[in-house]
Amino acid sequence: MQKGSIGVTTENIFPVIKKFLYSDHEIFLRELVSNAVDATQKLKTLASHGEFNGSLDGLKVNVAVDKEKGTLTVSDNGIGMTADDIDKYINQIAFSGAEEFLNKYKDNANAIIGHFGLGFYSAFMVAKKVEIRSLSYKEGAKAVSWVCDGSPEYEMNEIDKAERGTDIILYIEDEDDKEFLEKSRIETLLRKYCKFLPVPVVFGKEQEWKDGKYVDTDRDNVINNVAPLWARKPSELKDEDYLKFYHDILPGQDDPLFWIHLNVDFPFTLTGILYFPKIRNNFEINKNRIQLYCNQVFVTDSVEGVVPEFLMLLQGIIDSPDIPLNVSRSYLQSDSNVKKIASYITKKVASRLEEIAKNDPANFEEKWNDIKLFIEYGMLTDEKFCESAMKFALVGDTEGKFFKLEDYRKLIESAQTDKDGNVVYLYATDKEQQYSYIKAATDKGYSVLMMNGQLDVHFIGMLEQKIEKSRFVRVDSDVIDNIIPSADKKEVDLTPLQREMLTTVFKSQIPSIEKSEFFISFEAVSEDAQPVVITQSEYMRRMKDMAALQPGMSFYGELPDSYNLTLNTNHPVVKRILDAAQAAVGDKVGAIDNDLTAVNAAIKSINNSKEGGKELDEEQKRQLSDNEARAVELRKQQADILTEYANGQPAVKQLVDIALLGNGMLKGEALSNFLQRSIALL
Ligand code: ADP
Repeated sequence: MQKGSIGVTTENIFPVIKKFLYSDHEIFLRELVSNAVDATQKLKTLASHGEFNGSLDGLKVNVAVDKEKGTLTVSDNGIGMTADDIDKYINQIAFSGAEEFLNKYKDNANAIIGHFGLGFYSAFMVAKKVEIRSLSYKEGAKAVSWVCDGSPEYEMNEIDKAERGTDIILYIEDEDDKEFLEKSRIETLLRKYCKFLPVPVVFGKEQEWKDGKYVDTDRDNVINNVAPLWARKPSELKDEDYLKFYHDILPGQDDPLFWIHLNVDFPFTLTGILYFPKIRNNFEINKNRIQLYCNQVFVTDSVEGVVPEFLMLLQGIIDSPDIPLNVSRSYLQSDSNVKKIASYITKKVASRLEEIAKNDPANFEEKWNDIKLFIEYGMLTDEKFCESAMKFALVGDTEGKFFKLEDYRKLIESAQTDKDGNVVYLYATDKEQQYSYIKAATDKGYSVLMMNGQLDVHFIGMLEQKIEKSRFVRVDSDVIDNIIPSADKKEVDLTPLQREMLTTVFKSQIPSIEKSEFFISFEAVSEDAQPVVITQSEYMRRMKDMAALQPGMSFYGELPDSYNLTLNTNHPVVKRILDAAQAAVGDKVGAIDNDLTAVNAAIKSINNSKEGGKELDEEQKRQLSDNEARAVELRKQQADILTEYANGQPAVKQLVDIALLGNGMLKGEALSNFLQRSIALL
């Protein structure tokens, strides 16, 4: 028998372990089972070096609970340990600065365990006493036991043990830890951490339903799949395999859209499978769906820092022994291996998408609307990804056709280049609401893109930067002839008085709409075009869209929406309205306008005498203010006459309302008035 003290410098490490690691108690099981798996794997390594000649058949790990005895046992038939091995690997754990470290990382059991190679000792998080019973593979080795009751003292004895390998027996006594004597709890934990370990992990027998109850069969209840898909060669696998695996790890989901099998061994080792999930609605986006494994041992399902942010929407598994698992997140993010891994994953995802887009364009187009969110998000947040994605990202037009960015540019270049040489990308965000604008554009032979995705506001801004000499304009931001101005644009042929008359006549008939203001403008476009349209400037609208998405820009959000009510001065109806107004009130308004001209001339001449820094004398000042008051008065008279006239013109109201209606802006009382007026006009 040997007695001794475990080589730790702190007084008694076990209470510390227990006290600080409460949050993650359950990982002791992962540690013990991993050690057991390692012990069997080492046997394989020894065999490959000719240092072990026995059979490698039947290597496995067995986990058992005995509620009555209060024990949990993890057994393996791996390399085992001699008394010397135990001394070396278990007794002499190095422990410098333990307490300080424990304090620092008390919330992170992984870090502590990893730091000290405390895997085995994590057993003391749940056990009062731990016993090792082991027989080494070495020839002539004697079986040995090691018992420790949680104090730094241990006891070692020679024992009888016929089978090679190690049993770790945990004596669980604390009420708090009794959960680990429940079969169901242990089975759940094994399925969580050990589902894909490379050696069979057996937990009791499979059960079957017989004579009204579950009974054990004689088949082992194997917890794990020893050759999970990601550890196999992509060339051996079929689509069905990938789909089945997906549903195994993430039950209850629709089939994924695409998947990517990761497989590198230089300059780091990384395997895994990432799936593009089908997202049924945008609220369902679930981030932590990538599980991180280390040599098939589950580590965590929070992979921030390892996987680029935009790929957090993917699902699946990443397995790498090169990711430092036992460190804090911030350290993880600065680790150079991790950075390489993240950029590898990005590259791989991009090249896989490019490949699908190229080899199976129909499939890619079909799924585009589902993956668009990932790709746009990726392009917006990751420069490298953006570079590659510019080659395969698609845009869709209002007819449901898809194009690669480059192809699309070629398609529209000839018809949609403005006089400054910019290619104008027209887009719509709502096919129904912007129907008349879309039609006006397509009637001219232009193509209109649909940009109604959640990220499209940002995406458009990005494309404008990436695509040289390009400009994105929403179809309803102006009349179509202005959106893509050509060199031979027609001038509006109206006198200032005519403009004034039309402006007041129309403006006075716009119903008041909350947080909206309107400006009247004129365009001499084709007489087949709409007589009156409402547009909102691309710039203003984008600012407001951005404001809606970003809290910091609320200034723009507060501004009223300003719209243009644009009159087509070539349209017969508009012409008729002008003619009628001139016939009815043209003389009166014209007379006032003459007065106004005279008053304005007087104001101007007084102001002119100020030239050269001269002060106005009292008389001049009085005249100036009289004239200014007179001008205001005249303008008001003019406006009153025109408004009164317009009030009696249902056709003007009707045109305004039709334009509002075309923009989805006619609502409530105004809509009801419109309907009544329409009937009256019949
Ligand atoms: P780590 O596994 O990080 O090295 P542990 O404290 O878990 O740290 O284990 C210490 C050592 O004890 C292991 O490296 C191994 O040599 C030995 N060991 C632990 N469990 C077993 C086992 N089941 N079979 C054989 N050796 C073991």
